[in-house]
Amino acid sequence: MKTIGLIGGMSWESTIPYYRIINETVKERLGGLHSAKIILYSVEFDEIEKCQASGEWDKSASILSDAAKKLELAGADFIIICTNTMHKVAGQIQAEINIPIVHIADATADELLKDNLSKVALLGTRYTMTQDFYKEKLINRGINVIIPDEADVEIINHIIFNELCVGIICEESREKYKEIIKKLKDAGAEGVILGCTEIGLLIHQEDSVLKVFDTTEIHAKKAAEKALDTNHDK
Ligand code: GLU
Repeated sequence: MKTIGLIGGMSWESTIPYYRIINETVKERLGGLHSAKIILYSVEFDEIEKCQASGEWDKSASILSDAAKKLELAGADFIIICTNTMHKVAGQIQAEINIPIVHIADATADELLKDNLSKVALLGTRYTMTQDFYKEKLINRGINVIIPDEADVEIINHIIFNELCVGIICEESREKYKEIIKKLKDAGAEGVILGCTEIGLLIHQEDSVLKVFDTTEIHAKKAAEKALDTNHDK
């Protein structure tokens, strides 16, 4: 079994499901007492969020590259960055290490294509929804992406940073997300990407009129499968 290097803590609320889902997937596959080999580097999220807000992406890339190098030195075979947003600097991190990063948007695109979806809604932080770094990964695979209108982008983003990342799960916010997902369905979306690793803490399939693609679940399962994969080319 390969060793998974997790860069977590962004926020730590969503790193917990990563740890659980990876281990559950290994247990499902191997049974008994089997569990995943994981090395976790959990960063100080306040530092990272300040870099995001001030546009200091290079500084955040350097903090995360440092974490990735330490995971490589500690014996990780590949890296999982437990946030969608920070994949904005995935290329810069990859350039600093000799082990692969499993990109969250690639893993998500694989799942969307299995369902033959050609138009999906993307929910995530303001950065993920409005900038190109994430959407272009999907568009390059032939998937059209729509995002909420400006007012709804603000609502989605505000709830992520002010509630979900600090462990607040609020019924009123769930209703707001449900309404926004309905609007995106009316706009032609065939599925919805929970493109922020905390959204799955609030929204489950039963809350959504669209099929839900939870990036935390997809990415964590992909990590477990890769760790168990005996084909070394993959
Ligand atoms: N975990 C979130 C994401 O998946 C947001 C936190 C962050 O800005 O990294 O994008």
